[in-house]
Amino acid sequence: MAGSWYPAAEAPLRATVISYLAKVEDTPTGDIVAIITPHAGLRYSGAVAAHAYRAVTGRAYDVAVLVGPSHHVGFDGVAIYPRGAFDTPLGPVPVAAGVADRLMSAPCIRTHPTAHVREHAIEMQLPFLRHVLPDTPIVPLVIGYQERETILALAEVLAGALAGLTPLIVASTDLSHYFDAERAASFDGVVIDHVARFDPDGLLAEFERYPTHERGRCVACGGGAAVAVMKAAATLGACEARTLCYADSGDVSGDKTAVVGYLAAALGRFDRTPEEILRPRLGQPGEPVGLRPPRLP
Ligand SMILES: [Zn+2]
Repeated sequence: MAGSWYPAAEAPLRATVISYLAKVEDTPTGDIVAIITPHAGLRYSGAVAAHAYRAVTGRAYDVAVLVGPSHHVGFDGVAIYPRGAFDTPLGPVPVAAGVADRLMSAPCIRTHPTAHVREHAIEMQLPFLRHVLPDTPIVPLVIGYQERETILALAEVLAGALAGLTPLIVASTDLSHYFDAERAASFDGVVIDHVARFDPDGLLAEFERYPTHERGRCVACGGGAAVAVMKAAATLGACEARTLCYADSGDVSGDKTAVVGYLAAALGRFDRTPEEILRPRLGQPGEPVGLRPPRLP
């Protein structure tokens, strides 16, 4: 994806990441266990993703476990990338082999290298992750068919394997796809409400309200990843969610007739109420991205 979805050279990539992070006006304080963040090209969803990564900047984590959907390959279970490193223009991001081994003891986790080859859901997290947590190793997980049994099994495996560590779990997902901005905001508002209420069961029920092939379009391409991560985070001590930013691709492209929705959120224990966190304001004239405050329940 380097060179198309994000700059291929270190200096422009780092400058882009820094500029998005610098535009985040406020960020929750407390202990953050998990974030939910989009995975479009940096130019489209980078400004939203920055709100999630700004919240974990400089914190000390043992490992970052990245969970995303498979966009190109269909398979049962969850594909792990258990050894080696992911190369990025900001340097290699090593895989935490010890944590990977713990996860691989579960039947739902398997190695499936093909699932990782073209997958952007994990890769699009790495520029931010590498910049804000440069010393944190990763475990990449790609969910195949996002079936209830797989989602629930993954939640349980994550909670068990990460107990005793200080992990950051990253759910990589975009929200609705290709509706006009008004309809997108209404579909996405449902997801945002479930996240804000920290209600993974409600989100799973919403996901399953649609036939399998409509779930990515009407709810979220990584809806199963978000549910699994929310459930695991709850077991690992997160008790609240903060929705940090919502925007759609039309805020960048100008085309509001067919947009993709993007959400940034954090799960953990926070020092301030949602009302005390300054929300992104409407874009100023001349600013390319008009970030809107997320709808609150
Ligand atoms: Zn997607």
